[in-house]
Amino acid sequence: MIIRNVRILGGEPVDIHIEDGVIGAITPAGSAAAGAVQVVDGKGAIALPGLVDLHTHLREPGREDAETVLTGTQSAARGGYTAVHAMANTSPVADTAGVVEQVYRLGQEGGYCDVQPVGAVTVGLEGKQLAELGAMADSAARVRVFSDDGKCVDDAVLMRRALEYVKAFDGVVAQHAQEPRLTQGAQMNEGVISGRLGLTGWPAVAEEAVIARDCLLAAHVGSRLHVCHVSTAGSVEIIRWAKSKGWNVTAEVTPHHLLLTDDLVEDSPVGAYNPIYKVNPPLRTRADVEALRQALADGTIDVVATDHAPHPVEDKETEWLAAAMGMVGLETALSVVQEAMVDTGLLDWAGVAERMSIEPARIGRLNGHGQPLEVGAPANIVLYDPSARTEVDPAAFASKSRNTPYEGMTLPGRVVATFLRGKPTVLEGKLS
Ligand SMILES: [Zn+2]
Repeated sequence: MIIRNVRILGGEPVDIHIEDGVIGAITPAGSAAAGAVQVVDGKGAIALPGLVDLHTHLREPGREDAETVLTGTQSAARGGYTAVHAMANTSPVADTAGVVEQVYRLGQEGGYCDVQPVGAVTVGLEGKQLAELGAMADSAARVRVFSDDGKCVDDAVLMRRALEYVKAFDGVVAQHAQEPRLTQGAQMNEGVISGRLGLTGWPAVAEEAVIARDCLLAAHVGSRLHVCHVSTAGSVEIIRWAKSKGWNVTAEVTPHHLLLTDDLVEDSPVGAYNPIYKVNPPLRTRADVEALRQALADGTIDVVATDHAPHPVEDKETEWLAAAMGMVGLETALSVVQEAMVDTGLLDWAGVAERMSIEPARIGRLNGHGQPLEVGAPANIVLYDPSARTEVDPAAFASKSRNTPYEGMTLPGRVVATFLRGKPTVLEGKLS
């Protein structure tokens, strides 16, 4: 197969030759001989290594009304992803080898996108007893990322033990940093707007205090810590300090925290108190957004992770206090990153490949993904047209859920095609 006329990381036009799922050759555009089994016209699109998400909620098993492994991986493919890490807060919780192997196999059967299960840190996400981390690491799913995401491992002794335990198999603990007592009943960012609206605030310190503690714990035991969905300027300062010490700390930011702010809760195109903006951690201030963008640009924050959190209509289209927290994100992530980071001059396409493919695969110790598009690399490729303008239409999503904050917004760029080991999962923007 030949993908004609694409620009790797935005460079000169080339043809990419794929043989047995691997990049066999890269030649100047137009030089490829005819006779290939299949030719895809890239029309000058940018080619990036297939995106890798460190933080996806696929909801299966247990909430198949919101998403399944199949629909979630179809959504991922449409967003340009070739691998996603599936969070453990399913029902049952992914805290045993049996559950992680089930999720892993469902991803393989679907064939749209590799699914790398995340294992729970504690049994049932209850924060009381360590789960079978070693058994999950040794299972067919080869788990390397462990997280109680949705909940914080707030017990310092348990967090220390988890950090010590994962060293045996080069694993990493991904922390959802939220001090539970400081955030009881929290509804939105604690600040001027929460005060005006009379909603219980989620203070920045509740995130920052846990991140500071965990950086110190990771350094103390010499282990790897990954910080999920960093949302405040103060968190950025703490992570910058930990990295300056040479500690093994990495961090992610979501697309929505790079673009949206808490004032949308008070006033937005879809009215006030619209739960489409209810998310955990909450949308913060413009100053936080600016700090997060700078941190992603300078590498203090290593990766963009979607925190794709599908919810059915009845859980989102309700009053603010009753609504579920979370947003879908796989199918808009690359466009939002273009808007927030590329069109602002903060990142080039090589930087996007680092933050959305290479680094997430490295942090997750995920083989076969996140490799530069070179001869011999697996043909995991996304073709992206940054000059397109797309009005976000949730009805067109492959995801089972529609809870996007971007409905009706025009975002830059469009995923044209996605290839998983040379097999097209998306062509002309549609599932293949
Ligand atoms: Zn989380």
